Amino acid sequence: AKESGRNSVSFFDPQMQLQVSRRSALETAMRRALQDGLFTLHFQPQVDSQGCLIGMEALLRWHDEQLGTVGPDEFIPVAESSALIVPLGAWVITEACRILSSWRDHPQLAQISLSVNISPRQFHHPDFVPHVTHQLKAFAINAHQLELEVTESLFIDDIDNTISLMNELINSGVMFALDDFGTGYASLSYLKKLPISRLKIDQSFVRDLLDDPNDEAIVRTIIALGNSLELQVIAEGVETPAQLSRLQEMGCRFYQGYCFGKPMPDSHWLLMLRDSQTV
Ligand code: C2E
Ligand code: CA
Ligand code: CA
Ligand code: CA
Repeated sequence: AKESGRNSVSFFDPQMQLQVSRRSALETAMRRALQDGLFTLHFQPQVDSQGCLIGMEALLRWHDEQLGTVGPDEFIPVAESSALIVPLGAWVITEACRILSSWRDHPQLAQISLSVNISPRQFHHPDFVPHVTHQLKAFAINAHQLELEVTESLFIDDIDNTISLMNELINSGVMFALDDFGTGYASLSYLKKLPISRLKIDQSFVRDLLDDPNDEAIVRTIIALGNSLELQVIAEGVETPAQLSRLQEMGCRFYQGYCFGKPMPDSHWLLMLRDSQTV
């Protein structure tokens, strides 16, 4: 804190003010971008142990004229703290359903699942469940093809209410995955309660899997946990063939990461798949 004037002390240092103005610039620009239709979705493949495409994860992208390309790691937290995540997240659901329906007659894409990231604030909005149900109907989607990725932070409070909301969607066929698994506070007994069908091993454990015995032990534990609870386990952030073969040895059967493909627009995958049988 800096001295300013008589006895008062300013708690605003220039760095902090910069962050505050960046935040509000982002917020304003995001609101406009949502109106102008400037957000897009990219898709990253998820594959099984045979290398077959089993799903895609939808990831938000935003390029702003003035701000340049802003990554979701920066704009999602701003959207979450400003309530913009509600209309933005609703757009993502609608767009994901639109894309899924456009894949309906495609030989490799017709059957795969599409995973969509959901923020806690978005999930708990009273319009969330009706919006998802409505979009599934509107685009005549097989609900089993929509997977919602949630993190442990969704369950911090009111776990029973959260589970009953999840069950409403599960009853209509929607699936849930627990994202970034291992980074939160989940315990065994708590995990057993959650109506999820898939665990996603956080990429931070996969990154040093070959060099760090602690990470290797964590990954082993997550795979064993998933198997004993009959959950599918998918490893995120698989970048190299060496990581892949270690994961295969360890009994992990589903993978996602740069090794199989970076997040790309739908048009990229349509072209790729036209020219080859696998990803
Ligand atoms: P996430 O859900 O954990 O998504 C995985 C992130 O890891 C993505 O970053 C993806 O591009 C990146 N990634 C995938 N494979 C690899 C790899 O092999 N190596 C490395 N180093 N990275 C890999 P991205 O697209 O920047 O998204 C960051 C985060 O932003 C996401 O993390 C998610 O939490 C959030 N996010 C993205 N789209 C949405 C959305 O539509 N809604 C919400 N609520 N959050 C979103
Ligand atoms: Ca995710
Ligand atoms: Ca993740
Ligand atoms: Ca993450």
